[in-house]
Amino acid sequence: MDLLTEELALDMPLNLGASLSGIATLESLCGGPETVDLGYALAGAKSAIVFGVPFDDSLIEPYLGKRDYSLSANKIRTTTFAAGIAFEISTVLTSLGYKTCPVAPNFAFRKDTPNGIFDRVPPASLKLIAASCGIGHIGQSGLLITKEFGAAFSLGAVITDAVLKPTEPLPEEENYCNRCMACKLACVADFINPEPVSIDMGGRSVRVGNCRLAARCAYPCGGITGLHPSGRWSTWSGGRFPMPEDDDEYRTISRKYVGRYLERKRSGAICYNPLLAGTYEMQYTCSNCQFVCHPDPEVRRSRLKTLRNSGVVVEDADGNKRGVPPKEAEAFLAGLPEERRRLYTDDS
Ligand code: SF4
Ligand code: SF4
Repeated sequence: MDLLTEELALDMPLNLGASLSGIATLESLCGGPETVDLGYALAGAKSAIVFGVPFDDSLIEPYLGKRDYSLSANKIRTTTFAAGIAFEISTVLTSLGYKTCPVAPNFAFRKDTPNGIFDRVPPASLKLIAASCGIGHIGQSGLLITKEFGAAFSLGAVITDAVLKPTEPLPEEENYCNRCMACKLACVADFINPEPVSIDMGGRSVRVGNCRLAARCAYPCGGITGLHPSGRWSTWSGGRFPMPEDDDEYRTISRKYVGRYLERKRSGAICYNPLLAGTYEMQYTCSNCQFVCHPDPEVRRSRLKTLRNSGVVVEDADGNKRGVPPKEAEAFLAGLPEERRRLYTDDS
């Protein structure tokens, strides 16, 4: 008898602190893109146990309104916790004789693509794998979205050679994404395209996101810069470095400014991103596409409005951030001594 039953595989993440779980198999992923090839991460893989851990919903509105930055720390802690769940399940299953590979929720990149980790291709797409096994749907943003938590959660997984039955995908008609484009309008980098896209996976047609080059998101998402082209609002980054239109320019622009970003002081929780060569320290300053996407369209509208009226972030010498009106932010930056101003802008 197999030691790992479907019931146990689904219960383990939930009992360890996740709120959603599912099982994907080679059959439920067949025909999908190369990022759902479980064998890439683990030779002989047959299934994946996938789970979601929600962020603290009560912190979303204050974060979008620039009243409280705590959601960044909550996202860091939740993501680390999800990685810990994957590691713990993996450890137990390995002791039982299974081959396993825990998959980190973030910052895991393939090294064998043309530009290595800078192509930002994950060893396994947790979003697509989670969509295949009924945890949620894919929204226009490319994020996994759920009726329970919107897009505001962290995913983790354990890929294993255990033979398990897959959990069923959700009917595509239940996907709440109505292409409202709140995610696109909440994005300072214009990362999300409006046209619908579907792929084949597991013998059915699955709606997926339509996004531009991954580096386009990573540049503001990692905190280097963050002013919206309108100049009226920003992410939680105090950076004002340029955001070009052409995707190709994003292949190198982060590397141009990462040194100055890392020279800034950071206040509060940090995580480590291998793309930020130097100290690798990062704080989440955006994720706006993730946090505006609530199952209720009225809440999405309200959150987008909150964000666009939230002002522009400035940072003091210790890295404490606050949102101020755009004109005040301009004056603040202009008044900084040159050695501090260059950490945020090329304008002299
Ligand atoms: S914000 Fe709107 S368009 Fe974007 S993923 Fe959510 S529901 Fe879809
Ligand atoms: S994280 Fe921010 S920059 Fe990246 S796609 Fe979402 S809204 Fe745009």
